[in-house]
Amino acid sequence: MAPTGHTHEAWAESAAEALSRAGYRRGGARAAVLEQLDAQACALTAYEIEAALRGRGRAVGRASVYRVLEELHELGVVTKVELGQGQARYEPNRAEHHHHHLVCDRCGAVVPFDDEPLERAIAAISRKVDFEVSEHEIVLHGACADCRA
Ligand SMILES: [Zn+2]
Ligand SMILES: [Zn+2]
Repeated sequence: MAPTGHTHEAWAESAAEALSRAGYRRGGARAAVLEQLDAQACALTAYEIEAALRGRGRAVGRASVYRVLEELHELGVVTKVELGQGQARYEPNRAEHHHHHLVCDRCGAVVPFDDEPLERAIAAISRKVDFEVSEHEIVLHGACADCRA
């Protein structure tokens, strides 16, 4: 578990260090993508990340956005989320902000949720079946309140 007081800056910092250790240069596209990920509350597609960068006046080419996201995913500092929408989404891997996703299959909305009893249930299953769970991902599909109205 992350110590209390762990901040957003700590994620960006450790992600930048992981890139340096792996021999990647800091700056340019990598710095812009890290900054964008750090500002995200949840997972976005590479296309949405590219658009957000453009909106912040930090335009980065699509190929570079994809390349940097894959580098960060391989280094384990970014989680790649497959929500059954045909496009992977990416979000910072923050131990202290662990969450899961609700997906509206009508409008495509993605909403994060977290639930302590659910986490405890996964730990209990891990003990019961004697399996060391290194990561888990829960996606609930359905219809959001707007789409049901
Ligand atoms: Zn998320
Ligand atoms: Zn919806």
